[in-house]
Amino acid sequence: MTDSTKPVQDVVVVGAGFAGMYMLYRLRSAGFSTIVFEAGSGVGGTWYWNRYPGARCDVESLEYSYSFSEELQQEWEWTERYPAQPEILRYANHVADRFELRKDIHFETRVVAASFDERSSRWLVRTEPGGELWARFLVMATGCLSSANTPTIDGMDGFVGEIAHTGRWPRDGIDFCGKRVGVVGTGSSGVQAIPVIAEQAAELVVFQRTPNYSIPAQNGPLDLELEREVKAHYPEFRAANRRMHGALGSRFRYGQTSALAASDEEVQRDLDERWQIGGFAFIAGYNDFLRSREANAKAAEFVRRRIREIVRDPAVAELLCPKQVIGCKRLCLDTHYFETFNRPNVRLVDVSEHPIERLTSRGLVTGGREYELDVIVFATGFDAMTGSLTRIDIRGRGGIRLRDEWSGGPRTYLGLGVVGFPNLFTITGPGSPSVLANMIVAIEQHVDWITDCLVYLRRGGYASIEATVEAQDAWVEHVNAIADTTLYPTCNSWYLGANVPGKPRVFMPLIGFPPYVEKCN
Ligand SMILES: Cc1cc2nc3c(=O)[nH]c(=O)nc-3n(C[C@H](O)[C@H](O)[C@H](O)COP(=O)(O)OP(=O)(O)OC[C@H]3O[C@@H](n4cnc5c(N)ncnc54)[C@H](O)[C@@H]3O)c2cc1C
Repeated sequence: MTDSTKPVQDVVVVGAGFAGMYMLYRLRSAGFSTIVFEAGSGVGGTWYWNRYPGARCDVESLEYSYSFSEELQQEWEWTERYPAQPEILRYANHVADRFELRKDIHFETRVVAASFDERSSRWLVRTEPGGELWARFLVMATGCLSSANTPTIDGMDGFVGEIAHTGRWPRDGIDFCGKRVGVVGTGSSGVQAIPVIAEQAAELVVFQRTPNYSIPAQNGPLDLELEREVKAHYPEFRAANRRMHGALGSRFRYGQTSALAASDEEVQRDLDERWQIGGFAFIAGYNDFLRSREANAKAAEFVRRRIREIVRDPAVAELLCPKQVIGCKRLCLDTHYFETFNRPNVRLVDVSEHPIERLTSRGLVTGGREYELDVIVFATGFDAMTGSLTRIDIRGRGGIRLRDEWSGGPRTYLGLGVVGFPNLFTITGPGSPSVLANMIVAIEQHVDWITDCLVYLRRGGYASIEATVEAQDAWVEHVNAIADTTLYPTCNSWYLGANVPGKPRVFMPLIGFPPYVEKCN
């Protein structure tokens, strides 16, 4: 029975990144009493935590922004083609101020547990620092990439220098000047941070397990003519992006034919043009780069050739050449990443054969050799998509734990709900396009869906909502079936949980935004 001494909210939202902020805005507008709990001391989520040098969005600023308010999208002025972390954080703070969101957000408050009371159809939510309250609905806006994945390495406590994870960067920053720095990890964050750190540090040692494909972002000041054009037709521009496979890039041509039907020269020319333009549209020239190994090999070899052209030392270039299919791991965008390995103060160390053995008080040991370092940066990514949910003790019907239900991999209906957990919603949850889409678009679509759903329940006088077992089973099968028509499952990516020891290997996001939206309607 609901304990009447504890406050009751219509909705508790966990997280105040772009998902939680917009969720609060919509729920408040629809007349639901709502409280948001946020572990950090400010809004912005990803862009609050990831303050590492070089942190930047890989989606263009005119697209990576909210579309729900015409005034907001007209008044905000981006400065670069791709926004850097400080600018996105300023934007998030501007949104919080403009829509007076802060008054309903409790900062520095972590939700540690939530359990569903079947008799009252309410969630009892427990926070730290201590507090409990009831909520009729619980919305998890905890983020797909918000639980840092820091490896456990012997000797970490004994290292006398500084250790930082890119996803939990110290607010005061790190001064690399004159220091010997080691960066562990060459995924998106590493690829962004390495060129900037290399400019400051006395020495930089990059410890690489898997080389990654990276395409030049070709970042620069925002094209004012383009901005004027987009702002003159923003609703149409947003609608066009929502019709795109990844909810972005409608300005670019997406090829509808096979790379195998084109001559090698044509494919090279197309890739060459796209390399100059920069960005994810690089592999959008043909429709089978992510479906056919043979087609994929053409794009992959193109990038490897570029790496060999850019990097002067052939042995280093070879180490930087990825071998897996291109695009099955998150494609990186960079600014002078490969060029950085021509600098005299940068060294690349391959840890694929000889993993990092331990840290000593002075540095890091791999392949039987000690590298002396003052700072170690872990750019080792996240326990993606499920980590932030399973780290909370969430208990549904009959006390079942989400963590246990997902021990073999996440199972959801539409990436929005989970059998056995009524009245709980996951924004950009596993089984939805989430990380394979422009995430702000994916967030807005989910938030709008959840709001509509809650309004529907209120209007009909329904106390709870829950997916059926059949619907969830069919959905999980659908997500897998789509993934299996592509090359995505062929390499060890965080989409599959492969970066976290012991995590079940399950492809978590759903490929294709527009067909997903259709299924949600
Ligand atoms: C380095 C980096 C680059 C990225 N680049 C892109 C990009 O180019 N394009 C793109 O579309 N997306 C990108 N993303 C994904 C990015 O996460 C999303 O675009 C978006 O910011 C997600 O917003 P969110 O609100 O869903 O989650 P987040 O921004 O992750 O916010 C979740 C919030 O929930 C809080 N939280 C989690 N658990 C709890 C708890 N138990 N109690 C209280 N609070 C909690 C966290 O502190 C966090 O503030 C990137 C992510 C990273 C890390």
